[in-house]
Amino acid sequence: MNGPLRSADETAALIAAVEDKGLNATISFDHTVMQRQAEEITGRPDSTRLNGLAIGVKDNICTIEYPTTCASHILQDYRSPYEATAVSRLKDAGGIVACKTNLDEFAMGSSTEHSAFGRVRHPHDPDRVPGGSSGGSAALVAAGALRVALGSETGGSVRQPAAFCGVVGVKPSYGRVSRYGLVAFGSSLDQIGVFGKTVADAASLLEVISGRDANDSTCADLDQLDAPLERQDLDGIVIGLPSEYFPDDLDPAIRVACDRTIAALRQAGARVRAVSLPHTSLAVPCYYVIAPAEASANLARYDGVRYGLRVPQDDLHALYRETRGSGFGPEVRRRIIVGTYVLSSGYYEAYYTKAQHARGRIARDFDDVYASGVDLLFTPTTPTTAFRAGEKLRDPVAMYLADVFVCSANLAGIPAVSLPIGRTGGLPIGGQLMAPAYEEELLLNAAHVLEERVDPMEEI
Ligand code: GLN
Repeated sequence: MNGPLRSADETAALIAAVEDKGLNATISFDHTVMQRQAEEITGRPDSTRLNGLAIGVKDNICTIEYPTTCASHILQDYRSPYEATAVSRLKDAGGIVACKTNLDEFAMGSSTEHSAFGRVRHPHDPDRVPGGSSGGSAALVAAGALRVALGSETGGSVRQPAAFCGVVGVKPSYGRVSRYGLVAFGSSLDQIGVFGKTVADAASLLEVISGRDANDSTCADLDQLDAPLERQDLDGIVIGLPSEYFPDDLDPAIRVACDRTIAALRQAGARVRAVSLPHTSLAVPCYYVIAPAEASANLARYDGVRYGLRVPQDDLHALYRETRGSGFGPEVRRRIIVGTYVLSSGYYEAYYTKAQHARGRIARDFDDVYASGVDLLFTPTTPTTAFRAGEKLRDPVAMYLADVFVCSANLAGIPAVSLPIGRTGGLPIGGQLMAPAYEEELLLNAAHVLEERVDPMEEI
């Protein structure tokens, strides 16, 4: 890690100060729990890599130190009997689980308003949302309380809040990081991702958590990622600009920030070329069939018998109905209903099979562009800056469209990063780089080169 490390006490004080301002970014946070972990690693020879670094962990990632609630009443007091592989690896490397961070319930949302524990506030404007679903992690890093945090991505939930809050967010390739201990939402899409103030911090964290894991058969059989940030320029790199991500009605300030970033890419030596990903318009509808379908199956386990909340009833069906009806919030219930519908006999082919075909086309678009000699793609991360709380709550489709530039990477399984590229009206703007599967080293190097050349604080 670069930059000074803070002690557990200092970090605890910073988190407490941020929470006193009413950000509501944490679900569990306890100074003494942090202190105890700090004492445990003191002097341990294998703990030098992270050396006591305090890490925020999204509350859908299992930890021993704190409950794992998924921001849901149904898991309100749930304590996992085991911890996620990513968390074990961070602790083995000398990291400390600082707190569990607030999220949209079961990671379903784009604003962190769908939390059973109340919404997270944007660190620069309390009337706005920090993005979602990993809004608590993004807000704490942006507010300076933490240097790094873990989030999770099913359809953009690290990159979108990173863009809204003005921090770096990385979504690794599917299979780069073990999903063991990440509470399942859409299993073919889910990945743990990382937030950092800088690309270097985020990259260090990703390196530690990556690599094969016998506990997750969908984790790629690869060694730990080793991505030294050695590049000083982008000589010889071809960057594609997919026209579908720069529509005529793109927010003018976001367009200006992107244009400046494209100029910086050129100055760094990259060749920039217009490309097309023709099935981009299918990404949001395709995602919002596949993700709810998988969620409806994954969330069947919360039945009032095996996990968490139980609302006792005389017969079994009433127990299911009352427990699930009162334990899940409205967005989760909507997803379960949509998911069950698209998987039901008679509709399966019309919706689910069709969405799988669309997913194949979206993935092939990326394959074709990369095969044509393009190394990386550059796009805006989001179509708008952080929106006002409540603005999209009553219109789920408007909320879903906040993911229009981010969810394709999840469907295709490729890695992507969002980094801050400017501001408008005091609100951060995010730019996104995407790479072919397992090309994290190039992706992170390019993001690092860009970070040195673009001023994230410049107002547009
Ligand atoms: N906004 C998306 C959704 O609501 C993304 C969620 C995620 O990536 N966890 O499903």
